[in-house]
Amino acid sequence: MGVRYCDFKDIDRGDFDAVVVGSGFAGGVVARELAERGGQRVLVIEKRSHIGGNMYDEADDAGILVHRYGPHIFHTNDKRAFDYVRRFTEWRDYQHEVLADWYGTYLPVPFNKNSMEIAFGKEKAARLTEKLIETFGDERKVTITELRAQDDPELSEIADFIYKNVFLYYTQKQWGLTPEEVDPSVTARVPVFVSRDNRYFQDAYQGMPAEGYTPLFERMLDHENIQVCLDTEAENVFELEFESSDESAPLSAILIKSAPFEGPIVYTGPLDELFLSRFGRLPYRSLDFVYETHDAEHMLPCGTVNFTVTEDYTRITEFKYLTGQKSDKTTIMKEYSRSYDDPKRQIPYYAIVGDENAAHYERYRELTKSLPNFHPLGRLAEYRYYNMDVIIGRALALADELVG
Ligand code: FAD
Ligand code: UDP
Repeated sequence: MGVRYCDFKDIDRGDFDAVVVGSGFAGGVVARELAERGGQRVLVIEKRSHIGGNMYDEADDAGILVHRYGPHIFHTNDKRAFDYVRRFTEWRDYQHEVLADWYGTYLPVPFNKNSMEIAFGKEKAARLTEKLIETFGDERKVTITELRAQDDPELSEIADFIYKNVFLYYTQKQWGLTPEEVDPSVTARVPVFVSRDNRYFQDAYQGMPAEGYTPLFERMLDHENIQVCLDTEAENVFELEFESSDESAPLSAILIKSAPFEGPIVYTGPLDELFLSRFGRLPYRSLDFVYETHDAEHMLPCGTVNFTVTEDYTRITEFKYLTGQKSDKTTIMKEYSRSYDDPKRQIPYYAIVGDENAAHYERYRELTKSLPNFHPLGRLAEYRYYNMDVIIGRALALADELVG
């Protein structure tokens, strides 16, 4: 039948058992599970004019399927998460590869044995690789932080090279910070890999939804118990009641249409926004995307090229590699990272993880703890750097808790 869309002004809150804010993987999976497994009538509130959160994709003017909020490649070791998304679409096998543009020469990223040969020449690379294997073992992953902590002069040479040519400028562009200033978990996402494997991810399950992510979400939210209100901001739906007028007083109730709502409320937007930033705004990074369509079959040698030593943008992605689409035209997308200053116009893409910001987030989280029916979930509401599969896993776990 398709997704059942509704207008918030026409809804009767008594017609719903649960409310979900956001229709990305966090909101989408929970809504489906509460509706299907729990038999609950679920209202989904989404501020954008479409479902799918950051996974949303659509055909551009040239008919090329593009991702509107950054390139999304599915990869996981969590079989439950993969089996779950497989319910809603066929998948195409796709193993993502990334090359760093190093002054016009391409180095595989994560930096590996092949990158070493290109950067240092075969003979020297053989010696350095031997050293890496001796120290860390073959087929092992080593973070740049760990590599830089080694005393050995040859390991230091490798570490310095990778630090300067792969991490430094890219991280400065992406975060406005040096690799030492970002949380070590951020650069650890892309470790040095003592291997010939050029893939960006080594997870057991990898791929792309055969027809794109939007049809996946359309099927996930196509359920008789689910209604979706697009173009609807949470702040226009909820009234918050606190235990006292003290700004740190916990929530005592959430009202919808002036009456307390006691069913589960799963909130997947930014938590600071919900509380009108009363403790100051949480910092995020935003992005601008610039698309170009070319009369060529391909523009890049692989799905993504990272610009690690030159250019203002961080990376370019060519969607046809990801989607497998055939066309004599191609669309590429450049990503420019920005500070997140204007919530009205910008999107908060990345939480800036680290101890200080986690403590700041915790102040908001505390406000919600007294309200057992309120569940912050997802990359924004939990202020974490989660991939899609982790979100799906967490959404399923929350559904287990709520409906068994
Ligand atoms: P989102 O997808 O952000 O969904 C949140 C939804 O809530 C949005 O639709 C938003 O409009 C809505 N919303 C927010 N606030 C409100 C409000 N106040 N009222 C109403 N609605 C609201 N992960 C991978 O696994 N592989 C990748 O290749 C990958 N690439 C990425 C590339 C980029 C550039 C970025 C930024 C992220 C990438 N991710 C990737 C991570 C992935 O986007 C997240 O894991 C995923 O989006 C999290 O889902 P979510 O539902 O928590 O959040
Ligand atoms: N990174 C880098 N150079 C690269 C790739 C990654 O410096 O060529 C660092 C950078 O700090 C980046 C982080 O590693 O933000 C995580 O990279 P990932 O590709 O996982 O970022 P995402 O796809 O989530 O934007």
